Amino acid sequence: MNHPRDFPATPATPLRSLIAWREGGLMSQLGEGFFEHVSAEPVEAPHWVGRSHALAKQLGLTDWMAMDEALAVLSGTGLGPGQPPPLATAYSGHQFGVWAGALGDGRALLLGEIDTPLGPQELQLKGSGATPFSRRGDGRAVLRSSIREFLCSEAMAALGVPTTRALAVVGSPLPVFRETQETAAIVTRVAPSFLRFGHFEHHCHTTRDPARLRQLADAVIERFFGPLLEQTEPGARPYRLWLQEVSRRTAQLIAQWQSLGFCHGVMNTDNMSILGLTLDYGPFGFMDGFNPGHICNHSDHQGRYAWGRQPQIAYWNLHALAMALRPLFDDPQEPGDAIEVFKSEFHKAWSHQLKSKLGLQSNGPDDEELARDWLGLMADHRTDFTLAFRALSSVRRDHPEVPAGLSDLFIDREALKAWVDRYRARLTLEQTDDAQRAVQMNQVNPRYVLRNHLAEVAIESARQGDFSEVQRLLDVLAHPYDEQPENASYAALPPSWAEDLEISCSS
Ligand code: AMP
Ligand code: MG
Repeated sequence: MNHPRDFPATPATPLRSLIAWREGGLMSQLGEGFFEHVSAEPVEAPHWVGRSHALAKQLGLTDWMAMDEALAVLSGTGLGPGQPPPLATAYSGHQFGVWAGALGDGRALLLGEIDTPLGPQELQLKGSGATPFSRRGDGRAVLRSSIREFLCSEAMAALGVPTTRALAVVGSPLPVFRETQETAAIVTRVAPSFLRFGHFEHHCHTTRDPARLRQLADAVIERFFGPLLEQTEPGARPYRLWLQEVSRRTAQLIAQWQSLGFCHGVMNTDNMSILGLTLDYGPFGFMDGFNPGHICNHSDHQGRYAWGRQPQIAYWNLHALAMALRPLFDDPQEPGDAIEVFKSEFHKAWSHQLKSKLGLQSNGPDDEELARDWLGLMADHRTDFTLAFRALSSVRRDHPEVPAGLSDLFIDREALKAWVDRYRARLTLEQTDDAQRAVQMNQVNPRYVLRNHLAEVAIESARQGDFSEVQRLLDVLAHPYDEQPENASYAALPPSWAEDLEISCSS
């Protein structure tokens, strides 16, 4: 294995970096058994494929990102001044409903932690080479999946969905073999923590070390769930409250996914964030035509992770977490009871999402039925999810005519009209006028989402060496709720060539 060199002190490189590193966040403080120190494997001829200048600014890294040092560090090709030794963490997980045993960061490396205006953040490379957890993998990621993760992380953040962020993608001509030969890329991900449900499962089922399980749980609670400690007797640990809070955050996250027609695609327990963030973008997809049974992952033959099953699966995953945390509880029933809050929280969050997407602020007796019938109508027509919700804001309470932008999306215009009449009648209970309602609805119903075909176009030009489309798409998706007349084509239905696009697990 090659080791990255210390970044050479060229005249342009100050001896002190513009970035002040701390060693690997919470994990590095836990010690042996939680991680391994690993060096990145350098790649040849690294180059920027995309950079999120918006995130760099939020992190206070704008100047650093303009330096050669940043390219060296974020390609795993060099170590910057003061950079601590990187590490890969140990986790396990359930994949597709089956216990998969030990997994771990097989191609991710935690570079370290930095203080930022957003609070302490970990920087992690994905695709930087083999680690002790790579099993038979090469530790690499290909350009196409890296661009997808980069764009979607930032798009989700702009949509207001909790997510890990992505600062940059670096490309290299290094060949990577998947179904065909492709080239390597490395994404820099940013989050307060990349801890997964699977980190806890690891110390219950794999190492079977309750002391480590407790150590990890206590550290996570203290660091990320501090307020819960104040609600507990001195000396006692708020495990139940914590598990309830994780369940609530997970419920709210999934309700947001559902409300955007977002499918994660691989909701294995090792891809579930303990902080309630969207984590590990693989074969994800935003639905075009609405189909509750939509499966975005071509490798998911059973449809386990179909859009309509995501809430159930999240609950299943929480159950796996609860089982893993049993050694922390005196009463073995307690963790199972704690996650029950997921059900009511999801129902509340999803109803709330639907109501705001319909522009309803007051409570009407038939709101749930109205929303359900709207989704049913969209499903019957396979109506474009994003366009249909967006077009709803053009309905006028006192005008019986269905706006063309909406009716054009449906085949059975009478069924649509019947529903719109009920909707208009319901709107009379609202205090808002049409214009105010449209403004509010347009803040929750995006015009722009990362449709598969848009990512595909950007990937194809990146493969030809033109990265401008990656950057342009990033900019469009940074303002998903705004009308951007010059970018109207990015909101359009997918072209016919994209109808059969299939995204598999391979990445
Ligand atoms: P994923 O399906 O990407 O969530 O990954 C599941 C597990 O496989 C994780 O432990 C990853 O680190 C590991 N993994 C995925 N791809 C690779 C690869 N190319 N090399 C090494 N490990 C990998
Ligand atoms: Mg994963």
